[in-house]
Amino acid sequence: MNAKLESGVTSLPVTRQTFDEVLVPTYAPAAMVPVRAAGLDVWDQEGKHYLDFTSGIAVSSLGHCNPLLVDAVTRQVNTLWHLGNGYTNEPVLRLASILTAATFADRAFFCNSGAEANEAALKLARKYAHTKFGPHKSRIVSCLSSFHGRTLFTVSVGGQPKYTEGFEPLPQEINHIAYNDIESARTAITDDVAAVIVEPIQGEGGVIPGDIDFLKALRELCDKTGALLVFDEVQSGVGRTGALYDYMNVGVTPDILTSAKALGNGYPIGAMLTTDEIAQHFNVGSHGTTYGGNPLAATVALNVVEQINQPSFLARVNEASAKLFAQLEKLSNDFPQLFGKPRGKGLLIGLPMAEGNKGRAKDYTKTAEKLGLMLLIAGPDVVRLAPALVVSDEQLIEADRIMRDAAQAFIAG
Ligand SMILES: *Cc1c(COP(=O)(O)O)cnc(C)c1O
Repeated sequence: MNAKLESGVTSLPVTRQTFDEVLVPTYAPAAMVPVRAAGLDVWDQEGKHYLDFTSGIAVSSLGHCNPLLVDAVTRQVNTLWHLGNGYTNEPVLRLASILTAATFADRAFFCNSGAEANEAALKLARKYAHTKFGPHKSRIVSCLSSFHGRTLFTVSVGGQPKYTEGFEPLPQEINHIAYNDIESARTAITDDVAAVIVEPIQGEGGVIPGDIDFLKALRELCDKTGALLVFDEVQSGVGRTGALYDYMNVGVTPDILTSAKALGNGYPIGAMLTTDEIAQHFNVGSHGTTYGGNPLAATVALNVVEQINQPSFLARVNEASAKLFAQLEKLSNDFPQLFGKPRGKGLLIGLPMAEGNKGRAKDYTKTAEKLGLMLLIAGPDVVRLAPALVVSDEQLIEADRIMRDAAQAFIAG
């Protein structure tokens, strides 16, 4: 054993400083280290309390340590954790059944993250196009400022050049169009396009809802050219926008849908959903993953979907959304020098910084964090709110109070 760690490794004292010493510096985490959480309540190493309006990044939609999930996972942990893909398992069969019953899809493929779900979707779309139309049909069209994950393929498909810089050579035959620009879509989506991938609401790109006319135009152009329409619902899915999936709100049905984040409420799982006809273009050995659809992950996701896909649950998400939007409208009216108008859908909301405070979203969220409220950003100019979908009216009011105090403190400098 390492001489530095002779005994008691699990009780080794660690602080935020330890991050800078032993983690690869891909993140710049907050100064405080959360150690415990329940619902939307989080406590750090010092015992200080925070109200969590991040849910990870739109992940823990049923709240931290949700009792029904804790119970389901505990039972599964004591029953069966893992099997290789040479065996199927009951939880994954139930999960695929509930997801296909609830959506347009007939088939599901499970993996461990959003990037992997998109990787599977893009590979399937290429395979489908190549076998059905020929190898010339390879091109992938996606949108500028989109985010689809961090594998080399998905980061190349994503529309944020800063994330591909230095990683060249990149995968080929990928074009980017401006989001919500129907004319660019018409020009780009031609007969050699295999897939068009789009977030129905751009999350990382600044919480920008897709125009229904734009999404409809993508559907029509895909139908015309034989390209597959992929909706990346990794962030918008599983109740976040007030429907099980946002395609149900916009009334445009994709050929392939990807889901992750909230699907596991914090336990890693991703899913790719598609139709019978398209699914047949993958066969035994075409694609796979060791952990995909394991019994533990599938148990969590099954219980998540069962809780969220209830009319009363989704109605409450929409009610909480209306209240939060009203609060934020008022906040932006009261602090016009700080904030523009809130935008988004359901409980995925962006509050843009006003002209003059552009680039300072992170500074504002740090101020709020000091006062006990955890918030996200979506790029340098947008404060992003993604509370658990189980947020109470009292918690909405408490968040409003802290956001106002933070706005005062921010202005005071
Ligand atoms: C977070 C996110 C991803 C990537 O998911 P990972 O689980 O981090 O791989 C992909 N697409 C969208 C829209 C996301 O928000």
